Amino acid sequence: MSKIWNPEAECMSRDKMHALQSERLIKKVKEVYDNVPHYRAKMDEKGVKPEDIRSVDDLHLLPFTSKQDLRDTYPNGLFARPNKDIVEIHATSGTTGKQVVAGYTKNDLELWGEVMARVLASAGGDENSVVQSSYGYGLFTGGLGAHYGAQTLGAMAIPTSSGNTERQIRMMKDLGTTILCCTPSYAAYIGETIREMGLDINEFKLEAGVFGAEPWTVEMQHEIEKMLNIRTVDVYGLTEIIGPGVAFSCEKECGIHINEDHFIPEIIDPDTGEVLPDGTLGELVFTCITKEGMPVIRYRTRDITSLTHEPCECGRTLVRMGKIQGRSDDMLIIRGVNVFPSQVESALLDISDVAPYYMLIVDRVGTRDTLEVQVEMAPDFFSDEIKHLEKLEKEIYEKLKSALGLAVKVKLVEPKSITRSEGKAVRVIDKRKK
Ligand code: ADP
Ligand code: ZN
Repeated sequence: MSKIWNPEAECMSRDKMHALQSERLIKKVKEVYDNVPHYRAKMDEKGVKPEDIRSVDDLHLLPFTSKQDLRDTYPNGLFARPNKDIVEIHATSGTTGKQVVAGYTKNDLELWGEVMARVLASAGGDENSVVQSSYGYGLFTGGLGAHYGAQTLGAMAIPTSSGNTERQIRMMKDLGTTILCCTPSYAAYIGETIREMGLDINEFKLEAGVFGAEPWTVEMQHEIEKMLNIRTVDVYGLTEIIGPGVAFSCEKECGIHINEDHFIPEIIDPDTGEVLPDGTLGELVFTCITKEGMPVIRYRTRDITSLTHEPCECGRTLVRMGKIQGRSDDMLIIRGVNVFPSQVESALLDISDVAPYYMLIVDRVGTRDTLEVQVEMAPDFFSDEIKHLEKLEKEIYEKLKSALGLAVKVKLVEPKSITRSEGKAVRVIDKRKK
């Protein structure tokens, strides 16, 4: 049963939220202006003074912060507190380049536990829960983020970290894990391994999954729910903001609530920087209004989604974003057509007889871009009969053609031939990038 951890924060009136965000923003902007030379220089350059920010409505006056700013000030140029106040360090997984480092104060760790407790409660978590954190522990924020949430909740945390899948599964069964936390691709791999070990998922106590850290479509979400016979919560976050716990889905499955009493979201046009209205797709931007160690201002995530302030039936008033379509850097341009891997995933999982494992291989032959989609057949479909394979291949080809508006090469591959992921899945090989 889904719960609300902090009703006062998660269900406050919009007026109250506006006042709270304004008060916190005003204070934070003054603080970074005084303590972080980089922000002061950028604000001076734009001609904005802390006094110009009188409410959250003035947020758009502030300069953006980009990944490049974090790299230029590596490792701790954007820290707003001296090292003596920093008690923990994390870093991005470096999916798209040089690592970015984030520093947390004691209060930041407490805040992280609070927002992750909200996520776990949405998955039904309470002090009776057994929470297995199968995200990687270490610099990556996944493992410890879920861990702190479980501790704040008063649940029992099992810090298995990722990998060693069979041992993980035995622990899950023996200790009666009720909530599993990992990436969706690892959840699928765990589900597959449970079956291969000859175990029956109904003999586990698993009730819910808190999955995120990589894009996954609604179709993938349903596939995993079926496989593990659980409810799932989509958890979103990034190291620059705090890690997992920035936003999470509720039981109504109608978007992802943002913990906006701590992280104010905006959607902007990635080309002009203009703030876009609700319902319009664009780049997600966050401002941290309570973090101490590294409170980023108008941080451009490069993640693509839209926002809605419509009330949600779950009772939360927190603004919702749509599922992340992907990062702007994940977008492939194939013969002039924009393709997000998530569009391919949606189309593929609509077809029975294919397994939720695929790979996109992009190349250039002469001056022509090519996209090959490798798809695994479902184990029970696997057949030697050429005519069956050809029929399935044709079905996938047509489906992708209409979903993407692009003719791609489809290659059916044998079950288990695509590498399984224990963390963030790599699903694109772009051979054009040498
Ligand atoms: P890196 O940028 O190196 O991967 P992070 O581990 O901080 O480092 O990853 C954060 C990114 O992961 C987000 O910006 C987003 O692109 C992706 N991400 C995290 N959670 C989700 C989610 N629930 N859905 C889609 N993408 C997500
Ligand atoms: Zn809701």
